[in-house]
Amino acid sequence: MDTQKITLLEGREHQVYEKKQGGPEVDIACDKTSLSGSVSQRACVFCGSRVVLYPVADAIHIVHGPIGCAAYTWDIRGAVSSGPELHRLSFSTDLQEMDVIYGGEKKLYRSLVELIDQYQPNAAFIYSTCIIGLIGDDIDAVCKKVAKEKGIPVMPVHSEGFKGTKKDGYKAACNALMKLIGTGSTEGISKYSINILGEFNLAGEAWIIREYYEKMGIQVVATMTGDGRIDDIRRSHGASLNVVQCSGSMTTLAKDMEAKYGIPFIRVSYFGFEDMSKSLYDVAQLFPDRPEIMEKAKEIVRDEIRKYYPEMQKFKAALTGKKAAIYVGGAFKTFSLIKALRTIGMSVVLAGSQTGNQDDYRRLKEMCDEGTVIVDDSNPVELSKFVLEKEADLLIGGVKERPIAFKLGVGFCDHNHERKIPLAGFIGMYYFAKEVYESVMSPVWQFAPRKGGLK
Ligand code: SF4
Repeated sequence: MDTQKITLLEGREHQVYEKKQGGPEVDIACDKTSLSGSVSQRACVFCGSRVVLYPVADAIHIVHGPIGCAAYTWDIRGAVSSGPELHRLSFSTDLQEMDVIYGGEKKLYRSLVELIDQYQPNAAFIYSTCIIGLIGDDIDAVCKKVAKEKGIPVMPVHSEGFKGTKKDGYKAACNALMKLIGTGSTEGISKYSINILGEFNLAGEAWIIREYYEKMGIQVVATMTGDGRIDDIRRSHGASLNVVQCSGSMTTLAKDMEAKYGIPFIRVSYFGFEDMSKSLYDVAQLFPDRPEIMEKAKEIVRDEIRKYYPEMQKFKAALTGKKAAIYVGGAFKTFSLIKALRTIGMSVVLAGSQTGNQDDYRRLKEMCDEGTVIVDDSNPVELSKFVLEKEADLLIGGVKERPIAFKLGVGFCDHNHERKIPLAGFIGMYYFAKEVYESVMSPVWQFAPRKGGLK
């Protein structure tokens, strides 16, 4: 296929950049709404808020809108719970034509009362969808009334789908969480304590991370939102530090908690040996009056790398020289993936994200090799063009990118929130390398047209 014939859509030029020696030093355009017709891989505002709050497992989640919004986000993350599983049930008020004409507040009220009586949750989240923004239901008033009657927090989530990008949904979710934080007792919280923010317990990843910190002697007050519990969130203002992984979704909350409760925050990543080790050291460093925390961090890093590093050499031997394309939700994850891929001998030829900001893209430009294409808010046609042009052997993305990779005849690794295998932590790096190895080296690709196989 002559990929040169695939041109960028007019209006997208400034969101695509190729790093070239002596090339122009321009900033990548980002933080803007998607271009009409570009089939952006981004989701809507409502979906952004839904994915952030989804793992809170002892709350009910009610999507106030037509059934399609709920169906679109039903059981959307691979977030697991160690206890209740209310999060896996997605309730909808299923608004119909008459509700749109006469308003949906009464229906929302009835749904809330019935569901709270039936499931006895510790809280409820009510999500606004596009149509609610249009008809103007006062969900705040309904939430307030039901909270008073039932004695549990009922949180409105202002996430009308059309009012911005997925990032605005993250903010709406953080605003709802912020209303819960500060309403619980901080009794029994140690000085050596943290909240883990932006970790969603996909395939049990939060449990892996939590165990490392607890082994170091640090108390984890709340995980937001993986394996999340309402009571933990309510008392999370008692922690000494916020450790933020998915910075795109949770930096807003960390900043708000810093402003209101004086809790400092750091940004970390749990992907790859290098960043995982740094996440432990960075936290330990902030508790200098207890040196044994750092000693324990060093011991964990030493033991874990000793356990997994030799195994990974087999994968590295096979993968050295192979090329990867990365297109994920947040840019911070891209940084870790570039480092993790280098650990197993692979280079990155395409790096992009749905929600990166100007600082993220500047850092990406510094990290990437010459010839790497960097994209913001890309689409399937662009991704296909660059995967083929750059002769990538692997595409790392989410569920929407999987068919692109398979149709092009390249390996695929799911690094999005649907994944079923933990990729965080030291053990996660091992699983990541194994998955990449198995996909890239699969004999099936010899039959793909790209490799001159079956047409
Ligand atoms: S909130 Fe709006 S954009 Fe999002 S799924 Fe519902 S109708 Fe679609």
